[in-house]
Amino acid sequence: MIEFQQVSKSYPGGYQALNNVSFALENGEMAFVTGHSGAGKSTLLKLVCLIERPTSGTLLVGGYNLSKITDRQIPSLRRQIGMIFQNHKLLNDRSVFDNVALPLVIEGLNQKEIGRRTRAALDKVGLLSKEKYSPSTLSGGEQQRVGIARAVVSKPPVLLADEPTGNLDPGLSAEIMQLFQEFNRVGVSVLIASHDLALIETLPCRQLVLSQGSIITPDQIGSVDTGT
Ligand code: ADP
Ligand code: ADP
Repeated sequence: MIEFQQVSKSYPGGYQALNNVSFALENGEMAFVTGHSGAGKSTLLKLVCLIERPTSGTLLVGGYNLSKITDRQIPSLRRQIGMIFQNHKLLNDRSVFDNVALPLVIEGLNQKEIGRRTRAALDKVGLLSKEKYSPSTLSGGEQQRVGIARAVVSKPPVLLADEPTGNLDPGLSAEIMQLFQEFNRVGVSVLIASHDLALIETLPCRQLVLSQGSIITPDQIGSVDTGT
């Protein structure tokens, strides 16, 4: 579903955020990207959804080679990916319903379909009763669930999450991880960047460990400073 083949990324100014990264996330797999702050986790996710472009190497996502993708194909690639951020970037002048419905409105679906799918997504994250509220009136955990509902409303086969539990206490973090597991159980591929090792270790998923832009193997953890 996602394949990195010797991918490197240097930012303008020359800082090399990723160095020769190779790995594959299988269709239907859930995995974590871990490593200390600055290790390159966000950069890795940004490359997958074309917020950033690789400096070298080959990146395959959902059947597209991202170095060969045309401008016309980009919307279709992006529709395959649901993205979840630590700061959910919700619109507080609109209701929970309208926030979650937004991707469907942009897709141009009719009102009836938008209503049905938006309520299905809100139901999955347990927020059907809050659809008329402003996100600003919800708790941090609820706001994060609104962000997740918005990411899954168009049923993308891939979910990417960047520090999705960064602002939450351990109980709420575990609930958010359970949600990801539920989506994974119905076949969604999930890639989560997180430095919350205690939480990650409660889940039976593969870990890709980044250290200074390179993937290290489990036996190298401890021999290099992962900073966590
Ligand atoms: P992580 O998510 O693991 O904290 P990032 O991918 O955000 O790591 O960052 C990796 C490195 O790349 C950091 O040293 C960061 O300062 C640098 N970096 C990230 N984004 C940019 C950017 N837009 N321009 C220049 N350097 C950047
Ligand atoms: P439909 O009526 O179009 O089949 P629903 O919204 O009622 O759609 O969802 C049907 C099932 O599909 C749900 O059980 C849901 O968990 C599952 N599903 C499959 N892929 C995804 C995805 N990417 N995000 C959320 N749910 C998904």
